Amino acid sequence: MSGSRKSSAAFFAAAVFLLAGLQTASAHEALKAKAHGVDLTRLPVGDTRVSDKPKVGWIWACRPPLDAPPAVAKGPWFNPDGLTYDLTRKAVVQGEVTWPHRFVMRVEGDRRIFSSNDLPNHPTGEFPISPQDPAYQYDRNPSRISAQNMTVELPLNPTPSAEPTCAPGAVGILLTGVVLFNALDAVGLDAVAHESQDGCQGHPQRDGVYHYHSLTICHDDAVLPDGHSALVGYALDGFGIFGRLGEGGKPLSSADLDECHGHTHAIPWNGKTVTMYHYHGTWDFPYTVGCMRGPFDFADMITISGGPEARGEGLRPRDGLRPGGMRPGSPPGPGAAPPRAALPGTPPGTPLGPRPDRVQFAAAAAKLGVSEQQLMQALGPPPPDFEAAAKRLGVDVETLRRALVPPR
Ligand SMILES: [Zn+2]
Ligand SMILES: [Zn+2]
Repeated sequence: MSGSRKSSAAFFAAAVFLLAGLQTASAHEALKAKAHGVDLTRLPVGDTRVSDKPKVGWIWACRPPLDAPPAVAKGPWFNPDGLTYDLTRKAVVQGEVTWPHRFVMRVEGDRRIFSSNDLPNHPTGEFPISPQDPAYQYDRNPSRISAQNMTVELPLNPTPSAEPTCAPGAVGILLTGVVLFNALDAVGLDAVAHESQDGCQGHPQRDGVYHYHSLTICHDDAVLPDGHSALVGYALDGFGIFGRLGEGGKPLSSADLDECHGHTHAIPWNGKTVTMYHYHGTWDFPYTVGCMRGPFDFADMITISGGPEARGEGLRPRDGLRPGGMRPGSPPGPGAAPPRAALPGTPPGTPLGPRPDRVQFAAAAAKLGVSEQQLMQALGPPPPDFEAAAKRLGVDVETLRRALVPPR
């Protein structure tokens, strides 16, 4: 009796293992099928490619580069050379979970407005990662995917800044309705090389915000008539993010692009052909945005970073940083933020009032006597930690909050 129970348990375990193996194999096949001939078995590990200024093939992140990479366990997909990894051997989080996706994009005046619950239009893996999942031995991400309520407004016709700025932790939103984080994980290492993501390259952070650190292969890999990839999303500065193929269908690597991971040529834009800047995804580090080519709004960054701010909790109107979806003119004082349950009900297409006051990041930095980069670095990876930032800058929290409150 106990023998047969033991053998049926062993059989069950073997079946689960086999099934997991098949799922992983098919996820790896799907990756290879979209590689456009790029060698995914020897991609550079980006851990040491974090810069404090713009640099091709590196990321200029709004966080201090690490003095020394923290010691983290490395999965067997890291090559013995210590410099590269094999994406086609990396653990893939199992599962086929579907979600009530809600993503609305519309144009109003000179703004492109997105509202998203951040739940993708494609299946995800099962999170938290199950102990039965082969990925569990490398990454025990305990987070659960949860619906967000994000509204961001980007310029319809973005313009580059005189000088680029560092890339915040969250850099944009893809057409799958899911937010795009930069190439780094919470400790500042190459997230694509180290973290376990699902077959669509997404996973949740600690507040349940599902996100990518690179382009997803689960979005239609469409190309324009000349072979250049189609648009796949938008960066926070309003510039488009396109797929991994450049003009004539040439697969791009970071070396083909500028420091911010983009270039300028004619692209379809708002129904016309326009010569303008745009970002590209690549298979190699930093995968998407390396720095921000145009000005972006601090409030939008907070919104797509997740955390209580994205859900309208915890950010009181006195903070001045109104999360997306809140209307200007909300009565001040505690309790003015609508309860969370009320937020997802905002029907798509509800006209927004005038755009909330912008957070003048440069003005805030000047007020505090620090550079924009110092302020951004102090705020750290998303969601920004005001207490820690104040400490790092040597100011009290109220001073920091007041500096970030837009003028009225
Ligand atoms: Zn992540
Ligand atoms: Zn291009």
